[in-house]
Amino acid sequence: MTIDFEHLVIGAGISGLGAAHFSARRGHSTLVLEARDRVGGCINSQAFEDQDGFWVESGGHTCFNSYGNLLTILDDLGLTALIQPKLKVGYALWQDGKRRPIRSALHLGEAIRSLPRMFREPKAGRSVADYYSAILGRRNYDDLLRHAFQAVICQPADDYPAEALFRRKPRRKEVIKAFTFPSGLSTIPQAIADQPRIEVRTGQEVERIARTDAGFRVHLADGESIGAARLTLAVPPPVAAALMPEGFEQARAAIDGIGMAEIETLVLVFRAAEVDIKPMAGLIAIEDAFYSSVSRDFLPDPELRGFAFHFRPGALDAEAQIARACATLDLRPDQVLDQARVHNRLPALRAGHAERVAALDAALAGTPLAVTGNWFLGVSIEDALTRSRSEHDRLFGAR
Ligand SMILES: Cc1cc2nc3c(=O)[nH]c(=O)nc-3n(C[C@H](O)[C@H](O)[C@H](O)COP(=O)(O)OP(=O)(O)OC[C@H]3O[C@@H](n4cnc5c(N)ncnc54)[C@H](O)[C@@H]3O)c2cc1C
Repeated sequence: MTIDFEHLVIGAGISGLGAAHFSARRGHSTLVLEARDRVGGCINSQAFEDQDGFWVESGGHTCFNSYGNLLTILDDLGLTALIQPKLKVGYALWQDGKRRPIRSALHLGEAIRSLPRMFREPKAGRSVADYYSAILGRRNYDDLLRHAFQAVICQPADDYPAEALFRRKPRRKEVIKAFTFPSGLSTIPQAIADQPRIEVRTGQEVERIARTDAGFRVHLADGESIGAARLTLAVPPPVAAALMPEGFEQARAAIDGIGMAEIETLVLVFRAAEVDIKPMAGLIAIEDAFYSSVSRDFLPDPELRGFAFHFRPGALDAEAQIARACATLDLRPDQVLDQARVHNRLPALRAGHAERVAALDAALAGTPLAVTGNWFLGVSIEDALTRSRSEHDRLFGAR
């Protein structure tokens, strides 16, 4: 069996593109196969052609100076100098049909009384509800934190493992704390994919992978097959489980059954002059059909304002989603200037996830197969890249 590439990556989200970047920088011939017609996965600065390219983030929207692996890639690509600070605008709550300040749901006394527990409460193995109720108080959790966390992960948060939500990372102090790019975060996946030493093929859905003496053979939906010495799966867990080649049954068993949260994202554009509310980062919904909305106000445009609403799947039909989104902005549906719909997916992690990852890693040890994604350390862009980096070191050796 012939080898066409030294490294083949399946999935062109940030996890897969990070994996491709690391191997290509070391001179390995690298191919990335992506099922959709664009790279970036959950990173998508949705641009509106009819609005002069005005864009709104439909997924990931903020990077931080604690994203060390991401910053290394930006340095490699000469992008660090283009980093764009985000205007400091705050989130508000959306509750009972009204926008309210976040402090209206905070029980300050309870928070102050509970806070010392932050230093002694263990986080490992606990759910979000259990851990955060302990350190900030049950009422604060029920009335505020549950909804704030749901807003971040766009799914019910109670049973999510607390460890997978936020992790402290060292900061690079010379870089702006929270940043984007003048054309949005899509700049990052696009720049990685545009490197001459990485080949990216979009619209290529991988159907099956076979283990060969020389590595792997990847079979595409159109009948073509490609050989590679090393392979990285950078797809959601159900896809990784389905694609796991023969001989990797233990790896498949370890990740089989990890769920996904489906998110119906609605992106709306309005004339700035018609939106009569103060600039805001977005809304955290309390018991509504959407989890959160994220605005473009962090990088204001003189003519337009844009908002991405992340809806629970099946909660409202398309028309009702627009009506609900407009209501939160004191606007009418006939004032929508442009719109787009995006299907986002995030992993729905549960108790015992760390044990699943340990079993997967044991099954992969010593093989030329890597598995990466936003379902290992956590869901953030940096968590995904941290996993891609460690899998790269395992496959190609640490530098
Ligand atoms: C609404 C929202 C807001 C967020 N905000 C932030 C934020 O502000 N900051 C932050 O750090 N993180 C944020 N995140 C999280 C972060 O954006 C994601 O976790 C991360 O981008 C996921 O990258 P990934 O490559 O692991 O997965 P994905 O982006 O899901 O990429 C997987 C890719 O695999 C492809 N694929 C699937 N099956 C196949 C197949 N059979 N063959 C070929 N390709 C296939 C998919 O099409 C997709 O492109 C947010 C996420 C969402 C949804």
